[in-house]
This record gives sequence, structure tokens and C-alpha cells, in this order.
Amino acid sequence: MKITILGNNSAIPAHGRNPSAQIVEIKDLLLLIDCGEGTQMQMIKYGIKRSKIRYILISHLHGDHYFGLIGLINSFGLLGRTDPLHIYCPELLPAIIQAQLDASSAHLPYELHFHTISDAGARTILVDNNVFKISCFPVEHRIATHGFVITEKAKARKLDIEACRKYEIPQYFYKRLQAGDDYEQKDGTLIPNESVTLPGPGDKVYAYCADTRYTLSFVEDVRGADLIYHESTYLDADVDLAILRYHTTAVQAAELAQAADAKRLMLGHYSSRYKEIEAFEAEAKRVFPNTVASFEGLEIHV
Ligand SMILES: [Zn+2]
Repeated sequence: MKITILGNNSAIPAHGRNPSAQIVEIKDLLLLIDCGEGTQMQMIKYGIKRSKIRYILISHLHGDHYFGLIGLINSFGLLGRTDPLHIYCPELLPAIIQAQLDASSAHLPYELHFHTISDAGARTILVDNNVFKISCFPVEHRIATHGFVITEKAKARKLDIEACRKYEIPQYFYKRLQAGDDYEQKDGTLIPNESVTLPGPGDKVYAYCADTRYTLSFVEDVRGADLIYHESTYLDADVDLAILRYHTTAVQAAELAQAADAKRLMLGHYSSRYKEIEAFEAEAKRVFPNTVASFEGLEIHV
């Protein structure tokens, strides 16, 4: 799984920083999380193949998280997309997008499927297939907002070729070994799967927590994640503003990551009041050393 940051500023584009948008790449498929204004230009700048986006997750309806969406939906039509597009979003979004499409008499050549998430707050599985799973959890913001957990499932077990030869296992059976089956020899002797395979890599978990004030209400949802993205709109000196506006400081984001026993933390959603962002990482690292402050174009492997 690879995350690419397309936007990391909050509220308005400022200081060369764009509003929220991230790409998650799993195998040959792309997910887009939030779609602030300017996201398409950022996709072009960073070489993101728009046609590979199958799923879009919108955390909430503050404009800096979705004002780029109608443009992207329209471009997909103009580019002749035929693959269905699935959007997971707050309850009001389908009506907003439909009004925009109706006003321009737009006819999309692809199926657009909206899957709404209850504004009352939902903990539910949104997508679950052989390769990955997406679930959501409520966070605490001024309007209904959800975070997302994306889990890339563990790959099949790896073959121990030397052991397979030793037990004279025919090659046609290798696929079943990778799926976890035992092998029975002609004389009835059972060769346990663990004797001829090695464990594949484990599940990889990415948790996206934005926008929210500091709270441990969702710490169990993100526990043990390989990477947590947590908004950090403010520096510690402005903690009062963070509380007032339902946002988080870098230090608070680090405290959440520590409480959740995460492996890594990524910061973002910086307030426009800060021209430079170096201090965010420095403040968070005092609490949670394995922190990186996101910057546009950052690619981070999970
Ligand atoms: Zn917001």
C-alpha cells in the first residue's frame, strides 16, 4: 500500500499548499480520500492515473474536503470513463452532486454509485474483498465526520520450495499450499502446511483521522495501525483555538498515536496561519518520535 499526499492545508489554499486530498494505492487500484479544490491539478502534477480511481471516500462536507469532487466527476465523463465509480460519503453529498450535474445537463458515461454513511455516526465495513477492507468510524468535529481504516490483507503463504521438493509435492498443488491446505502423500502421510510454506507478509493498516478535535473515542478503531494520519491543524501555542474549532494540535495527534500504539504517525491539515510547517513535526516527535509531517508529493509506503 502506498499513500501519496496531494493536499495538506486546511480551509483555504495558502503558502503553496492545497486543501485535503490523498491517494491510496493498493495493487493496481487507487482510492482517493477527500477531494479539496485543485485536487485534479495535483493528480496531474504527481502523475496519478485518474482512470485507476475506483473508490472515493469523503470524510465530511467542509468545502476543503470535497470542493474538487464535481470537477473530477465531470472530467471522468469527458475522458470517456466506463468503469463504475463508488463514493462513500455523508448523507447530503449525493443531492449536492446531483444538483450540479442536473444544472449542466451532464450525462455521465459511467455508473456513479453513492454509498452514504449515517450522519449520526457509524462504525461499519464499507468495502470488503480478497485484497482489502475499508471501514469507517465517527470522529468529533463541528459537523458529521468519519475517519477511515484501510486494511490491505495479508498475502498468501510463501512456498518453501526446498521443503516442497523434499516431500515430493507436485507443482499443481502449490497454489493450494499457498492457500493454506495440507498435503497428503500417496501412503496417507499428512504433510502439514507449515512444514512446506513460510508466512506471507501480515495485514497492513492505514488509518485516516480527519477532521477532529482531540479525543480517545476512536482509539480502539485505529489501534496498532501501521500508519495513522491525524490532522494537526495547530501548534501547541494555539491549543485553545484547536479546542474551540474542533481541531487538533500536533502534540495531541502524537498523544493519540501513542495511545493507539501505532507504528507511525503522519501529520497534515495545517492552518493557513503558519507559513512554515517544520515545527509541527518537531512538536509531535517529542511525544511520538516516529512522526512525519506530510508535504505535497510525499509518497509513504505502508
Ligand atoms: Zn472540517
